Amino acid sequence: MIELTHGPDDSDAALHAHLKDEADTLAMGAKLAPALASGLVIYLEGDLGAGKTTLVRGLLRALGHAGSVKSPTYTLIEPYVVSRLNLYHFDFYRFTSAEEYLDAGLDEYFANHGVCLVEWPDKAAPYVAPPDVVIRLTVTGDGRDIAIRPETELGRQCTEQLAAPPPPR
Ligand code: ADP
Ligand code: MG
Repeated sequence: MIELTHGPDDSDAALHAHLKDEADTLAMGAKLAPALASGLVIYLEGDLGAGKTTLVRGLLRALGHAGSVKSPTYTLIEPYVVSRLNLYHFDFYRFTSAEEYLDAGLDEYFANHGVCLVEWPDKAAPYVAPPDVVIRLTVTGDGRDIAIRPETELGRQCTEQLAAPPPPR
């Protein structure tokens, strides 16, 4: 089981965990699934190969998506309709200028009530919508560290659910 903990610094609102292997990253994605809410914008930060797409794969599988989860590196966006949500997975890695975001007409997705998961958001700054939650993945030895930080009240409601103990059964 992955345990999310607050950092040692009280001013750090982020939750942290170590993900020792790919299965942990998929499980972390699954843990995020019930905390999603309509209109959430989640930035996924971290180097190539950090596990951003893997996390989204775990999340989508937990929501009942049975098909493959492809990286949107070439398509820019992969839309999903899963359980109660419209979910849009973006990857702006290939942008050579942020104006490509405007040209691609992607704003309407962010104006929608879906959940937006964005890899390489900095490549579409300042045009892409600001985040409610920022998730940063860092390669550490064989595994990954994850930090999940709320940026808005909606984001805080999301991360609060992640930190909460599981309901009694
Ligand atoms: P990104 O989308 O950030 O570029 P991907 O998710 O496509 O990265 O790829 C990440 C790679 O790292 C995959 O080969 C995956 O199996 C591996 N991986 C994911 N999470 C972990 C982890 N916690 N520890 C070790 N390897 C991982
Ligand atoms: Mg990716």
